[in-house]
Amino acid sequence: DRFRHDYLEVRGLHVEFDGFVAVDSVDLTVVQGDLRFLIGPNGAGKTTIVDAITGLAKASGSVRFGGTELLGRTVHKVARAGVGRTFQTASVFEELTVLQNLDIAAGSGRSPWELLRRRSGVPENVEAAMETIGLTHLRDVQAGILAHGQKQWLEIGMLLVQDARLLLLDEPVAGMSHAEREQTGLLLQRIGEQRTVVVVEHDMEFLRAFASSVTVLHMGSVLSEGTYAEVQADPRVQEVYLGT
Ligand code: ADP
Repeated sequence: DRFRHDYLEVRGLHVEFDGFVAVDSVDLTVVQGDLRFLIGPNGAGKTTIVDAITGLAKASGSVRFGGTELLGRTVHKVARAGVGRTFQTASVFEELTVLQNLDIAAGSGRSPWELLRRRSGVPENVEAAMETIGLTHLRDVQAGILAHGQKQWLEIGMLLVQDARLLLLDEPVAGMSHAEREQTGLLLQRIGEQRTVVVVEHDMEFLRAFASSVTVLHMGSVLSEGTYAEVQADPRVQEVYLGT
């Protein structure tokens, strides 16, 4: 299995905005099969860490994935190294069908000749991704009329067909119904068996049900790390969240 030895290794990550330290010496190790959640109050630095890993924010320190140093690479080159990201608002092509969205994502980076040659059939990885995200029965439906949750799943599917081996997901269950949250949790667990998954999330119920490990950030630093039960029992975490 080509994904087996992947892991994310962040060391001494540091991000400043005009002298303001948003991320301060953060260490983070996430292995494949570990569904890691990043939590912390607003402004803790969660999004900035994801921005730094994906090449959107200028950072110092080290971010290695599967042995490759990512810091200093362009957004495009980080993506080519197998790193995929979603934002809070799903960005799918609303006028195109589910299948067309996945097909286009699968074709990114390939030559027009390869795309033309593939016109005849649906590639295996596209079929597989459609199955994984549970949208096979909606393959010919326009993405624009999908339910909110289904759009999020489609966006995750687009990362799968792009061969992202590290998925960074920003609040994937925001605005979802209870049933959609359950399905998303199961989906992330399935994906996490084969790929490395990091989720920025506020929803504590979701965390409790699905996180295999949690990193708590506060004012740009790691405050606590462990299982949900461990970080919940940590007095430092309680102080930050409850002000006690
Ligand atoms: P979180 O995602 O945990 O809510 P962020 O990573 O968005 O936190 O922000 C961390 C800190 O960095 C906040 O104090 C925020 O105001 C600041 N920050 C984030 N992006 C910028 C930016 N582009 N310019 C200046 N300050 C920023």
